[in-house]
Amino acid sequence: MTSAPSAASGLAAPLANIRVVLVNTQHPGNIGSTARAMLTMGLSELVLVNPSRFPHPQARMTAAHAEGVVDGARVVATLGEAIADCGWVAASSARPRHLGDEPLAPWDMATRAVATASAAKVAIVFGCERTGLTNEELQLCHAVTMIPTNPGYSSLNLSQAVQVLAYELRRAALPQATSVAGRQGPLYAPPSTQEMEHFYGHLERILLSTGFLDPANPRLLMRRLRQFFNRAAPDRNELNILRGILTSIEKPKNRRVPLEPGDGMPSAD
Ligand code: SAH
Repeated sequence: MTSAPSAASGLAAPLANIRVVLVNTQHPGNIGSTARAMLTMGLSELVLVNPSRFPHPQARMTAAHAEGVVDGARVVATLGEAIADCGWVAASSARPRHLGDEPLAPWDMATRAVATASAAKVAIVFGCERTGLTNEELQLCHAVTMIPTNPGYSSLNLSQAVQVLAYELRRAALPQATSVAGRQGPLYAPPSTQEMEHFYGHLERILLSTGFLDPANPRLLMRRLRQFFNRAAPDRNELNILRGILTSIEKPKNRRVPLEPGDGMPSAD
C-alpha cells in the first residue's frame, strides 16, 4: 500500500504558509477538486467559510488522493475569521475591476504571496460559484487577482481557478524562479489582518473627531484609504508609527510647534 500523498515538496517553507480560503462554496464536488488542485502544487491548508454542504461524500470523491486536505479543512463562519491571522490576503475574481484598483496578474500576486509567506501567513480567497465575492469581502483583502481569461467568457470553474493560481504560487516558489520583484523579504513581519482592522477603526475615529470624515456624507473615503494602505502594505513597525501618529492627534504631546501661517491653511490674502 502506498502512503497518502503529502504536501512535503522541497518548497514546503513558503507554500506551507499559504492558505486557500473558499467562501460559501455551494457544490461539495468543488471542495474535493480544490483539494486535489492544491495538493498537486504542494498546498495543503484549506479553510471553508460557511460551505453549503460539508462534510459530504462528493468532496472526498472528487479529491482523488487528496482526501487528507479535505479531512483537514477547517470550517469557519466568516471570511474575517478565516484570515484574521494573515499578513497578506489576495482575493481572486473573475471580474476585472473592483473599487478602482487594477487587479494583480496571477504571477505578480504569486511573487508577492511567496515573498510574504516567508514571514507571515498568506491567504488566497475564492468566491462562491454563483456570485463570486461581495464588495465587503473584497474590502477585507489586500489585493485582487484576476486570471486573464477570454473577456467574453471570463469565469472559470472554482477549482480550475484554484489550480491556475496554485500553479503560479508553486512556480514563484521554485528556486529557479527568475522574477525578482518583491522577492526580498520584509525587514519586519507584516501586520495581521486583525491589526490592520484595528488601525482602520482607529483612523476612522480620528477622522470623525477632526471633522475630516463627515458621517452624514462619508463617500468612499474609508474605502479609498483602505485601498491606499493595502497597496502600500506597511510592515508592523510602520503600522506602529501610524498608530502613534493617530494617538498623538488624540492626546497631543506638549512639545507642539505651532503651524506656520499658510501650512495647509487657506491664505489670508
Ligand atoms: N459568477 C461569478 C464567478 C464565480 S466563479 C462572478 O461573476 O464573480 C467562482 C470563483 O472562482 C470566483 O469567485 C473566483 O474566486 C474564482 N475565479 C473564477 N474565474 C476567475 C478568473 N478569471 N480569475 C480569478 N479568479 C477566478
